[in-house]
Amino acid sequence: MKNDLHESHAVPRLGLAHGRRPLAGLSGAGEKRNDGAVRLRNLTKRYDRFCAVDDVSIDIAAGEFVTMLGPSGSGKTTVLNMISGLTEPTSGSIWIGDRDVTRVGPQHRGLGVVFQNYALFPHLSIAENVAFPLRMRRVGEADIKRKVAEMLTLVRLPDVWKRMPSQLSGGQQQRVALARALIFDPPVLLLDEPLSALDKKLRESMQFEIREIHRKLGLTVVNVTHDQCEALAMSDRVIIMRDGKVVQSGTPQTLYEAPTSTFVADFLGTSNFLCGTLHEIGSNGTGVLITEGGLRCRVSGSDVHPGKRVRLMLRPERIMLDDVQDADQRLSGYVAEVAYTGELVRYRVVLSDADLIEVTLQNRKGHSIQKELGSAVTVGWRIEDAHLFSEVD
Ligand code: ATP
Repeated sequence: MKNDLHESHAVPRLGLAHGRRPLAGLSGAGEKRNDGAVRLRNLTKRYDRFCAVDDVSIDIAAGEFVTMLGPSGSGKTTVLNMISGLTEPTSGSIWIGDRDVTRVGPQHRGLGVVFQNYALFPHLSIAENVAFPLRMRRVGEADIKRKVAEMLTLVRLPDVWKRMPSQLSGGQQQRVALARALIFDPPVLLLDEPLSALDKKLRESMQFEIREIHRKLGLTVVNVTHDQCEALAMSDRVIIMRDGKVVQSGTPQTLYEAPTSTFVADFLGTSNFLCGTLHEIGSNGTGVLITEGGLRCRVSGSDVHPGKRVRLMLRPERIMLDDVQDADQRLSGYVAEVAYTGELVRYRVVLSDADLIEVTLQNRKGHSIQKELGSAVTVGWRIEDAHLFSEVD
């Protein structure tokens, strides 16, 4: 390729660079693409007798940004690799748009993929790295030149086209990898922990940028991460996996506010659990939980019956500390630990020999939130902020 590949930084008028539609985002359209739906049906992957992915069925709508989240070994990368074609399923099927791609090789699925380790070709310039998918498709030189310029502008790196990958920072290399994955206008972009090698600040700013690109281009994104903040911040929907199965799928807000199991409640964010037995059942699903430490807490739920063993879950930011006039439930305790983190102060409050909870308070101007270690405090919460789970959930 000639070095004048990127002679203009202006976004050119769009054309059909390789016989497909123009880039939606750069033309300002951002419409959802109907070829980007992903359908997984009864997908299973076994390694000998070990089942890494166990009968997973997922529907991802065209234009949706979905993140698979779960502990290490839960099977999320294996699902992504089966979608990309790098791993062959033991059984089940994979559909992209209206195509069954289960037995189609990765190079023929037409999906964009960005890996954690950038995977740029070290001996090729940035421009040639980004151009690579179009060269493979035998696109003409003028179209390649225009598309590379568009893509490098899209990822906010319009000036690096001559450099080699080793001359870029990790964050810049990951943007180049993104440009390369998007240049051939794939209907679906697969992201395999793309931000995990970056530092916290860069990761957070890239989260916004990837969201923005997703919105502009209207493509489907399937992301895999360990990082729950990243999953919540970036996704339209999060799919939580455990032991090769999907345990819950929903919007970030639904998963955080209404987890259906203690596993999801515990995995996403910080949760306090008060464990004990239900007593004094009233009408309309109310009762009293007597905790292992002998505390009495009012509860309500759909399956409340006497003698039932339960766990009451409370988010630390929903617990009031001393300022408890709006609380339905109040308990006394003392401060056992204080951690000042700048925007928040985290307290551990001992309520009984067996009951300890964490409370976080926003460090807002004009609020005195400093409590001394050992000081007596009252905690409180509203009943609707306390989630009741069966002990075995
Ligand atoms: P991580 O977040 O650590 O990457 P993950 O949720 O992505 O974990 P996978 O990489 O999908 O998990 O792996 C799921 C399970 O399958 C793990 O127990 C893993 O050890 C196993 N596994 C993956 N690849 C193979 C393989 N080639 N042979 C045998 N077992 C494998």
